[in-house]
Amino acid sequence: MKPPQPVPNIAALPLSRPFVAPEELGRLAGHATLLRLGANESAFGPPPRALEAMRAELPRTAWYGDPESADLRDALALRHGCSNENIVVGAGIDDLLGLAIRAYVAPGEVAVATLGTYPTVVYHIHGYGGRFASVPYARGGAVQLDALLERARTTHARLIYLANPDNPSGGFLPVADLRKLLDALPGETLLVLDEAYADFVAPNELLPDFIDPRVIRMRTFSKAYGLAGARIGYALASRETAATFNKIRLQYNVNRTAQIGALAALDEGVFIAGVIDEVARGRADYASLAKRLGLATLPSFANFVCIDLGTRERAEAMVATLLKNAVFVRKASAAPIDRCIRVTVGCVEERSLFATRFTEALATLDANPALP
Ligand SMILES: *Cc1c(COP(=O)(O)O)cnc(C)c1O
Repeated sequence: MKPPQPVPNIAALPLSRPFVAPEELGRLAGHATLLRLGANESAFGPPPRALEAMRAELPRTAWYGDPESADLRDALALRHGCSNENIVVGAGIDDLLGLAIRAYVAPGEVAVATLGTYPTVVYHIHGYGGRFASVPYARGGAVQLDALLERARTTHARLIYLANPDNPSGGFLPVADLRKLLDALPGETLLVLDEAYADFVAPNELLPDFIDPRVIRMRTFSKAYGLAGARIGYALASRETAATFNKIRLQYNVNRTAQIGALAALDEGVFIAGVIDEVARGRADYASLAKRLGLATLPSFANFVCIDLGTRERAEAMVATLLKNAVFVRKASAAPIDRCIRVTVGCVEERSLFATRFTEALATLDANPALP
């Protein structure tokens, strides 16, 4: 007799995961450590006060964290000028994306996003039995808002996912475009606005803080705040949407140490401003490195830069060659920008080591006539 089978939509899922982690890539490539420029982690570490607060809290790890994340939600409400009832804390945006899809896209219904954007969203759509409808990036890597809207209309999508700044392109839609999107958003469609990289953009270039029942905004402590391993982020949404999330979220998935670190990190404005400045310098370094080597880059508003290798095959060969030499980067997964590798801004030393390894790898590629 056959052993018990999973439900059909789970049984039909591929075994593929949204990410193969650098730990696994390193094991496969035979490297104990990698130059870690592939996951957009902060090269500048957690803010000192966050580290200190987390260290001081470690002895109380025997206790659960506050399932309401009340102190953190109060601080975030103050920062965003809203009520703490507009905030849901989760184990990173990845966790919150799953709640959004589970709550708003019934099995068989459609969610729309750019093909090749942040992969966890598609992972959740499929995992919860939804259907994914997509629009490609424009040739130059821009997100095509009008086409996304059109796709949402024709598919009666329940949800549009938009990362702004976008990952992997690094592109950024100005606030006027977002207003146009909101004006044209179909009544049946929720906008999930993933603002994982919002910290790298001047606040006046973002939508102002406001609560629109058609929008869920998501923020994270994983990028500028240097707490990716702590797994903590939050959603800003209407009270109704937040209450919906609260019906289904796990009570204890946000660990106590992460809550305490995130709260302390909010007091580290000067440190974070320094990170943001250094990331801007790093983007400029990568752009000039690429230029020296005769390669184009996509404009980036985040903590990474896409370097255009010309073809998908060359981009794949570059990722593989770098990995062989203990450098971890990723590449865009979908045409037309799958000809680009995506490199996280490292600290000065990491950037300099990357420049050396990248220049060597490019020479290896150029010496291989089989690559188109
Ligand atoms: C890194 C990233 C995330 C992941 O955020 P976590 O809070 O670490 O889960 C979400 N969205 C985008 C676009 C990202 O690049």
